[in-house]
Amino acid sequence: MHIQENLKHIKSTLPNHVILVAVSKTKPVSDLMEAYNAGQRIFGENKIQEMVEKYEAMPKDIEWHMIGHVQSNKVKYMASFVSLIHGVDNFKLLAEINKQAKKHDRIINCLLQIKIASEDSKFGMRVSEASEILKSEAFSTLKNIQVMGVMGMATFTENKNQIKKEFTLLKTVFDDLKSIKTFNFKPETISMGMSGDYILAIDCGSNMIRVGSSIFGERL
Ligand SMILES: *Cc1c(COP(=O)(O)O)cnc(C)c1O
Repeated sequence: MHIQENLKHIKSTLPNHVILVAVSKTKPVSDLMEAYNAGQRIFGENKIQEMVEKYEAMPKDIEWHMIGHVQSNKVKYMASFVSLIHGVDNFKLLAEINKQAKKHDRIINCLLQIKIASEDSKFGMRVSEASEILKSEAFSTLKNIQVMGVMGMATFTENKNQIKKEFTLLKTVFDDLKSIKTFNFKPETISMGMSGDYILAIDCGSNMIRVGSSIFGERL
């Protein structure tokens, strides 16, 4: 296992403004601790139950990011500690996150997942939906959430030109949404780029990358 070396290598290639989320889904706590001991403090998981178990087992100065698809009825299990939810793709979910955050007297940061891939298997909302939500009266009543930006996943393809087109689209969407002014929208974050495409993503304007297998090795 070369987790510490992998991390060090990746970090050495990142510009300062880019935040690295270490995607640790399916990996044991011992692997995460290796990354932790190398200084990593932000971890991304895609299943709430697994994230809760790791949260309970690990040091409390870790920021836990939920990067997977979230079901409304499970928000309550992570509401006390999650620091960023990347995959929010509908208003109902935002409202539920707000409700659960309020119970814990905190504000939960979220990203709106935008559909940028041409394949239909990916989750995410259309740009028009995102802007309608942010501009809506209903959104302005959600005092316990803060939308920090957008998240996207490119099509699973070897075609770099297509990936580049999709990443560039997300950057454009982010820049357009920025003009919407409302207290609970603080556009700072563009979460895009994974092990295979994070360098391209950064070139296209990403400032948060979600990297798993390049740090922890392939998942089974
Ligand atoms: C698994 C996952 C990643 C990381 O993928 P790698 O190719 O292992 O880097 C990033 N984002 C999301 C949403 C994921 O589910």
